Amino acid sequence: MNPITKILLCKGKKYYIRDLDKDFHTEFGFIKKSDLQNSKPGDIMKSNTGNEFCVFDPFFIDSYMKIKRGAQIIARKDIGIIIAETAVSRESVVLDAGSGSGALACFLAHICKKVYSYELREDFFKFVKKNIEFLGLKNLILKNKDIYEGIDETDLDMVVLDLPEPWKVIGHASRSLKTGGFLISYSPCIPQAIDFVNALTSDFIHLKTVEISEKEWEIKQRKVRPKTRQLGHTGFISFTRKIK
Ligand code: SAH
Repeated sequence: MNPITKILLCKGKKYYIRDLDKDFHTEFGFIKKSDLQNSKPGDIMKSNTGNEFCVFDPFFIDSYMKIKRGAQIIARKDIGIIIAETAVSRESVVLDAGSGSGALACFLAHICKKVYSYELREDFFKFVKKNIEFLGLKNLILKNKDIYEGIDETDLDMVVLDLPEPWKVIGHASRSLKTGGFLISYSPCIPQAIDFVNALTSDFIHLKTVEISEKEWEIKQRKVRPKTRQLGHTGFISFTRKIK
């Protein structure tokens, strides 16, 4: 996957440019490659049919939106609460499992010092490697490993689980987290969240289990209402903290 080099916007639609050596065709006409090559952020370019396109350099989020998805990813609204509740930062060393598509791991790598990510399946492991390369992340260490067998790292600030049987990791996480570190489990269904919380040892306190709802609204002049199509249920997120 070539990296995204420029973003174009026209009539509310976003276009991702990877190859500057080709004209770029859209339903609003095409932009000449020479215009693309010479464009600077903030420029307005006209297509052959006279439509205006604004241009800017991609931010992390623009490239992130184009990563390949294999396994079901953790939605950004859920990544948001994980970051907001823990305030992980450039000083934090964290771990996530399973990597899946690498969506959570890559987002965490964008804001943390170092991220370890464990993935059991070799096909997903290879898949995530490509996403890491595409985003150019150097601080994400991916391991083709079964986390139920243990965690190699110690002194971690946070462990996030998105696994069928998260309770199997509680003992390993206890040995690998700093005192005060966060153990978080994301599960699409409530039975896993219940079993995870009930399996917590006295090394942990359960802070809370949440479900985040996001409702997007459409605003077109005075036609203002919730969008017809919404992201429905994603998962339950249990926040715990190591206290010993
Ligand atoms: N959070 C990820 C999606 C995870 S999907 C994202 O945002 O992209 C769950 C993943 O866990 C699957 O890829 C599955 O192969 C992996 N998995 C299941 N059991 C595992 C285990 N014991 N150790 C490591 N990975 C595991």
